[in-house]
Amino acid sequence: MSDLYAVFGNPIAHSKSPAIHTAFAAATGQDLIYEARLAPVDGFAAAIAAFVAAGGKGANVTVPFKEDAFRLATRLSERAARAGAVNTLAFAGSDIVGDNTDGAGLVRDITVNLGCALAGKRILLLGAGGASRGVIAPLLAEGPAALAIANRTAEKAAALAAAFADVAPVEGGDFGRYAGRSFDVVINATSASLAGDSLPLPSGLFAAGSLAYDMMYGKGETPFLCLAREQGAAHRADGLGMLVEQAAEAFLVWRGVRPATGALLAELRAGLAG
Ligand code: NDP
Repeated sequence: MSDLYAVFGNPIAHSKSPAIHTAFAAATGQDLIYEARLAPVDGFAAAIAAFVAAGGKGANVTVPFKEDAFRLATRLSERAARAGAVNTLAFAGSDIVGDNTDGAGLVRDITVNLGCALAGKRILLLGAGGASRGVIAPLLAEGPAALAIANRTAEKAAALAAAFADVAPVEGGDFGRYAGRSFDVVINATSASLAGDSLPLPSGLFAAGSLAYDMMYGKGETPFLCLAREQGAAHRADGLGMLVEQAAEAFLVWRGVRPATGALLAELRAGLAG
């Protein structure tokens, strides 16, 4: 019988994860089934328990359940413990092992797919929510010259920066704090693009040759990427590559093999364009 995996979220119908993991399984010769499961907003733990009882081997977790998954896990990887959120669960006997592959996915998309080394770069991370928290340790592991966080609510950025002070100096504040400064990589981890909102970014933020990266995908040019283009960011990317790479990393956690991503990413991008 095929091994069973699923992604849990609410809503979940839009999820590309079943198509991505089914393609990975075909490409690597792994015998598995991967489904999308809608969980009630107050019923994540029960949904997971039923899935495990039905033989589920692992699960991905998306909005709004990443913190629930963190609490449900009986064991955490170091990167999940740092992130305070879990996007990948593996079920091993009575153990629920929680991992977080979002940061590894982002870093791989930027460094491998986009060919932008992060060592020695000045990075500005916009947003201080779950997505931002999940990528900080993997970004710091690349050895940037500086990492700064900007958020609408300045206190949240400052608190997040302080939470990583034992790893490296991280600065945090509101958007205006960075007036007169420029960065080599600016990553939008806010959900502003979801609502079509633009961010009040000071001018001059994008250094010559800089990369603007929006974690949002599937919406064409977001207000952030539009602003980045107008302000002269040389390279601009959406978060589709991060989505595919975090999935490949989860596949590696479950199956011990990392699928190639290039062809699938191109196919998904062509589908979005068409
Ligand atoms: P959260 O709800 O945890 O955090 C939202 C953040 O966005 C907060 O910092 C909030 O600021 C800020 N924000 C929301 N609206 C606005 C606005 N209008 N103007 C300025 N700031 C705003 O969300 P997540 O961190 O979980 O997700 C953020 C984004 O990342 C989403 O768009 C999500 O789709 C994307 N994402 C993409 C992934 C991928 O694989 N490509 C993976 C994970 C996430 P404040 O604190 O002031 O409220």
